[in-house]
Amino acid sequence: MMSEQEKQYIVEQRASGKSFAEIGRALGKNADTVRSVFNRIMEKEASDSSIVARSQTSITNAPICKYCGQEFARTSESAKRLFCSDHCRNAYHNGQKRRVPYALTCEHCGRRFIAFGNPRKRFCSRKCFADSQKKAVALAGSHMEVL
Ligand SMILES: [Zn+2]
Ligand SMILES: [Zn+2]
Repeated sequence: MMSEQEKQYIVEQRASGKSFAEIGRALGKNADTVRSVFNRIMEKEASDSSIVARSQTSITNAPICKYCGQEFARTSESAKRLFCSDHCRNAYHNGQKRRVPYALTCEHCGRRFIAFGNPRKRFCSRKCFADSQKKAVALAGSHMEVL
């Protein structure tokens, strides 16, 4: 008998393109056992009306959001839409932006460094950030003494 956890593992691995032999090796079972368990799970799922309903919507070729992976209704004016909502579109483009490199100069050590997606980054490293904070504290401290 397989535990629910093992069954779930089989379905997940199968979904990510693993062969029954590979999954079997990972679980210490043979490929035939894994295949028959997988087929039984799929039969059970197929008899589940909600799963059937879902597969029917994908037959209508509903577009899938490029960001969150959810299907969304296609309307005539949104035929080329790639996202289910403005939220997802913005989030996706922000994600893209994050990979844009910016050449910046470290405020602490003056070294040139590359920051990805954040043109307002001020330090080349955590160390420079920490050192600059210490310096600020030290300056504030000496200031206090003067006062
Ligand atoms: Zn979405
Ligand atoms: Zn630095």
